[in-house]
Amino acid sequence: MNFKTDIDYRKQSLRKLLTVVESNEKKIIRALYDDFKKPAFESILSETGFVLSELQHTLKNIERWAKPKKVLPSLLNFPSSDTIYKEPYGKVLIIAPWNYPFQLALCPLIAAVAAGNQVVVKPSELTPHTSKMIAQIIAETFDREHVTCVEGGAEKATELLAQPWDYLFFTGSVAVGKIVAKAAATHLTPVTLELGGKNPCIIDQSADLTLAAKRIVWGKFFNAGQTCIAPDYLLVHQNIKSDLIHLIKKEIVKAYGENQEVSPDFARIINAKNWKRQVSLLQDQTILFGGKNSETDFFIAPTLIDEPKLDSLLMQEEIFGPILPVLSYQNEEDIRKVISRYAKPLAFYVFSNNEKFAKKTMASYEFGGGCWNDTMIHFANKRLPFGGVGQSGMGAYHGRLGFDTFSHQKAVVRKANWLDIPIRYAPYQGKEKFLKKILNWLS
Ligand code: NAD
Repeated sequence: MNFKTDIDYRKQSLRKLLTVVESNEKKIIRALYDDFKKPAFESILSETGFVLSELQHTLKNIERWAKPKKVLPSLLNFPSSDTIYKEPYGKVLIIAPWNYPFQLALCPLIAAVAAGNQVVVKPSELTPHTSKMIAQIIAETFDREHVTCVEGGAEKATELLAQPWDYLFFTGSVAVGKIVAKAAATHLTPVTLELGGKNPCIIDQSADLTLAAKRIVWGKFFNAGQTCIAPDYLLVHQNIKSDLIHLIKKEIVKAYGENQEVSPDFARIINAKNWKRQVSLLQDQTILFGGKNSETDFFIAPTLIDEPKLDSLLMQEEIFGPILPVLSYQNEEDIRKVISRYAKPLAFYVFSNNEKFAKKTMASYEFGGGCWNDTMIHFANKRLPFGGVGQSGMGAYHGRLGFDTFSHQKAVVRKANWLDIPIRYAPYQGKEKFLKKILNWLS
């Protein structure tokens, strides 16, 4: 076994992973349900189906991605041939969060294995059923020297981070991201940080409101709002605010019924701590819709909040739950005042049929990725980089970018011996004019 150099071995491992995930799909979906009542449809779309599709895509392309790439040599080096070799970093640690616990552990794993690394995966302790499934799948698929799963919480992660690694890949909160970045700095380890933020969703007067309402409800309440790229708050033009709110309420009822607590399509908050935090965000707010909650199974209904104060708790931190603040604006300056209060978000959404407004707004702000006239779907395209900027993260992955993330690009010049142009060698006296001429000619 040589996963470092043997592409066939890597392919074999990934093919096995595909078989093991496929044959355990029902159990994985069950584990996700047991962890936070994640609906089966959402689990297929965003967890097992997503992972299987990433696996198939990787298997189809791995040879092409791994091939050494010849590049045009510099004339300064004439005669030579230049090549970039994609080499694995070595020992990789992947730390995953709980909100898409299967996908966010497995997708980086697929990329790291495809690139030839030795991997340790630490899933989230907050989704114990899924964590156990991940450990089982990894044990059944891989050789222990190649990939292992280490279960546990913050203490286990701290222990792992104290060891030297060749690459760190972390998905989770900004606060823990900073801890991971510090650990990476100790050993000067390259690191990818996939973090979160407060994602704005702007709806201007020209938007198709019916479609906007449907797509906002889907993006916000999928996974009960516990999605790093869910719209965090709405910024809606004041002239269409009441129409939009009416349509959003209608869409919520259409999707989850009058009593969302009995809907099989609506997940739960992950644990008591997060449930309490979400409920506390509702205090002193004007509830336009929803607000119902129950501690028994950590339910919080899809909830709309009217014009929260910007200094309220709700508007200070990433919500990460099914609470949607609705703020209105009159002009672009109002939009700027709100968005510029926060660090660069992971996602950004604009609903508009006014091309000039949409393009200008998307170009005016920095964010990881986003959509014009939809929410969240940029995540699904393997040809788009997925990652944040500034506080929402560094680095990106998915598809080929995932392979590249876990590969060191080694540059090698092969110099020919049949000619040895003497100008570069000392003594330099009398050569400067000629050197300038050459540099001028080459530029
Ligand atoms: P978290 O940061 O609390 O935990 C993530 C992982 O870090 C877990 O495996 C946890 O065990 C570990 N961890 C916790 N404390 C640690 C410590 N002190 N030292 C080292 N490791 C520690 O995040 P979470 O609550 O699981 O996930 C929610 C957050 O993740 C949200 O902020 C969300 O926006 C973000 N997120 C980002 C993405 C993305 O792709 N950018 C995806 C999902 C979630």
